[in-house]
Amino acid sequence: NTMKKKLIAGNWKMNGGLAANEALLRALREGLAQQAPACDVAVAVPAPYLAQTQALTAGTAIDFGAQDVSQHEAGAYTGEVSAGMLRDFGVRYVLVGHSERRQYHGETDADVAAKAQRALAAGITPIVCVGETLAQREAGETEAVVKRQLAAVIHLNGHCISEIVVAYEPVWAIGTGRTATPEQAQQVHAVLRGQLAAASTQADRIRLLYGGSMNAANAAQLLSQPDIDGGLVGGASLKAADFLQIIAAAR
Ligand code: PEP
Repeated sequence: NTMKKKLIAGNWKMNGGLAANEALLRALREGLAQQAPACDVAVAVPAPYLAQTQALTAGTAIDFGAQDVSQHEAGAYTGEVSAGMLRDFGVRYVLVGHSERRQYHGETDADVAAKAQRALAAGITPIVCVGETLAQREAGETEAVVKRQLAAVIHLNGHCISEIVVAYEPVWAIGTGRTATPEQAQQVHAVLRGQLAAASTQADRIRLLYGGSMNAANAAQLLSQPDIDGGLVGGASLKAADFLQIIAAAR
């Protein structure tokens, strides 16, 4: 591995509110002011709270992002939020293709690629999520599924693959308390790294995050795997103490 900072990104999902967000962000700020993180830190917040998050993270070690972006540039797409709108709020990252978007909103690999492309065009780093369901794992399809999902974003027009972040999130591990073992995660990360290496000389610079029930107790072991460059953290990112412990484990 080349010298590359790990990234710990929290995914708040559809949780929070003005008061709770302020308490959480203030606690994170205080924690990180006391012990400067060795890794990059970000939170992906619901769109209505981007302005609040921008204000409360200004001048801190906390970057922030959104959880989705429209694949369209502008126009008659009621309810959608464009990459340009995200950029207006100083967004650094956007989750793309989270399994909950794929599952509940029918997002296809083509949609995911179009969204990643829009993000990049706006100067926002897409965190592209891939991962197999339990049925796919049990059918021995894990490699094929994640390779197909990653292939969709490997050749985006005019952009180098090193501009994206990839998150491997086995669907069966998300929000279930059932974490992939470090060996299971590393095995898939190695496959993804190999696929990236076949496409780009920059593969080593691309951050591959693990996500799925990462918590304060299991983070250090997962993050010590050679091809795990950070974490995408759902539930545990809503508790400042837990999220800070995960950040402290990323070095
Ligand atoms: C996620 O939503 O990306 C996630 C990994 O959730 P959790 O940590 O709660 O499993």
